[in-house]
Amino acid sequence: VVEVGQPEHSAVTTCAYCGVGCAFKAEMRGEEVVRMVPWKDGKANHGHSCIKGRFAYGYAHHKDRLLEPMIRDQITEPWRIVSWEEAIAFTARRFKEVQAKYGKDSVGVITSSRCTNEESFLVQKLARAGFGNNNTDTCARVCHSPTGYGLNQAFGTSAGTQDFDSVDDADVIVVIGANPTDAHPVFGSRMKARLRDGAKLIVIDPRKIDLVRSPHIAADYHLPIKPGTNVAIVTALAHVIVTEGLVNETFVRERCNKDEYLDWAAFVAEERNSPEATEKFTGVPAADVRAAARLYATGGNAAIYYGLGVTEHSQGSTTVMGIANLAMATGNLGRRGVGVNPLRGQNNVQGSCDMGSFPHELPGYQHISNEAAREAFEQEWGVKLDAEPGLRIPNMFDAAIDGTFKGLYVQGEDILQSDPNTKHVSAGLAAMDLVVVQDLFLVETANYAHVFLPGATFLEKDGTFTNAERRIQLVRKVMSPKNGYGDWEITQLIAKAMGLDWDYKHPSEIMDEIARLTPSFRRVSFKRLEEEGSVQWPCNDEHPHGVPIMHIDKFARGKGKFVITEYVPTDEKTGPRFPLLLTTGRILSQYNVGAQTRRTENSSWHPEDVLEISPHDAEERGVKDGDWVRVQSRAGEASLRAKISARMAPGVVYTTFHHPQSQANVITTDNSDWATNCPEYKVTAVQVSPTNGP
Ligand code: SF4
Repeated sequence: VVEVGQPEHSAVTTCAYCGVGCAFKAEMRGEEVVRMVPWKDGKANHGHSCIKGRFAYGYAHHKDRLLEPMIRDQITEPWRIVSWEEAIAFTARRFKEVQAKYGKDSVGVITSSRCTNEESFLVQKLARAGFGNNNTDTCARVCHSPTGYGLNQAFGTSAGTQDFDSVDDADVIVVIGANPTDAHPVFGSRMKARLRDGAKLIVIDPRKIDLVRSPHIAADYHLPIKPGTNVAIVTALAHVIVTEGLVNETFVRERCNKDEYLDWAAFVAEERNSPEATEKFTGVPAADVRAAARLYATGGNAAIYYGLGVTEHSQGSTTVMGIANLAMATGNLGRRGVGVNPLRGQNNVQGSCDMGSFPHELPGYQHISNEAAREAFEQEWGVKLDAEPGLRIPNMFDAAIDGTFKGLYVQGEDILQSDPNTKHVSAGLAAMDLVVVQDLFLVETANYAHVFLPGATFLEKDGTFTNAERRIQLVRKVMSPKNGYGDWEITQLIAKAMGLDWDYKHPSEIMDEIARLTPSFRRVSFKRLEEEGSVQWPCNDEHPHGVPIMHIDKFARGKGKFVITEYVPTDEKTGPRFPLLLTTGRILSQYNVGAQTRRTENSSWHPEDVLEISPHDAEERGVKDGDWVRVQSRAGEASLRAKISARMAPGVVYTTFHHPQSQANVITTDNSDWATNCPEYKVTAVQVSPTNGP
């Protein structure tokens, strides 16, 4: 970290990495960050931070950052640096040409969970009001879309039920498919403090993550499931709760739909769903499942925290609903210390979903087929909206290969590196007539772009992010955009060039429009956020100061809905050719595809992705620690260095995807969640063999 002198000015803003949403005071000298000081009044972090928020801001000034727009007619041609006027005119003209030739539905947008609420709102508005279709999606598609679907089914809202502070009152903490100490470090530390104070811990994860055993903490139960069997283990836990008489009858009677509960209880009670019957394919001893279920149901306040190890599966939505079933059956909802808590990945993934980025939902999760909701938007925007849902991200690539989808505007997401089955993504991008990438760097996706629009960092813009606990917080500009414009301004320039009469002067005006159109944001404004520091939605006439804990007296949908969670094995099978299961995740010092963290001081902490492999599997293949190995799947192959790790169970290997050269997503399949198309990153059958190098 380079100290650049005493600060001249500062502002409190919000971290642009993970969904914890830590507040920082950015201390600046001119346009240089002197330091990022964790903000003591930050309601998500209470003065704490991790090494990403504290130190990984250098990307804002990195030499790789592009500050001038570029265009080219064909992706085989070199880029031409042009003025903003020419780039915007080129973009608008080409979108119009594509729509004139292939129809209004031939183009679409992808919003970014790295950008602000206001920016995501404008990008989806461009699709709906400008392009005239609902072809808008977001990178939540590839992470927490099953959370949105599953929790909406069960409770009527697509969000976590608690605030982070609530963990202080948990007696039992269940962590499923999440690694908070690496991926959500500030909340992970908070959780550890509660565990050191005596809360019990159940970890359900194929790996021995840090929480299973770290100084002064040992999980009471670690259920090391075989990847892909989440639904079976969650249903087996429910089997024990129902058949051993551990259901909270009062809660279920008063709060949930009786007939749905009875159907569900009969289903989970079937012998085929018992821990003994499922042990042979989950790999978890039945006695441990029984003991964990008893602890969850009878140990006092029990809170479930889960991550992408739950959602990124072919049955991701089913597992989310299974977790909701467990919480309802035991009455672990509606007060402090309990709940169903998705640990959202990116800084604003909750917000990008809230802002109507999905092809079937307007802002505030109002279904596009809802006539009254559509009418409100039509009146505000002065256009007629299409009532049919648009294309999801994977369907955009499919349609591009079929020749019916020809133009895409991607704001702040490197889909080529982050989405599964890279070959399919690149084929889809290559088949398009117009790909517009708005980003900080020439990311992998830009290899297929015709227009590159340089974006702005969080230090260069005003706006809001919404964290994993539905907390809306201000992002404050501490330096002028080095590229000349904030991301919201660039979208507005495109809209104007396409003939739309947008005239926002400041992101606060965009938030005012969001509040007018979104019932759960009705009383949100920049003024309120300035005065109150932050607010957790819903923030409306009934709850003008927000709601830290949801579903206290009744669920948003009325009666809680139990859903039958039939386990369906994934199509991805191991066999003699591909005998191991690969699962993927993140590491503390790096962030997702690494576009930002790799360009900061943090890069030295994790210079390459490695393959974690059990001592047993390594020995069987003659692989030593640090050797290069080839990882082959049905989709492709990659080369990585091996890291022999006792964290790994035999039969399971693990890698991260922070470096493009590791090609981790070349090997992942294109299986996806049945309800939302969220990719099944967590289960890929592979073979691992020694090789000489990359
Ligand atoms: Fe940023 Fe998340 Fe670290 Fe907080 S925990 S500083 S939000 S990356």
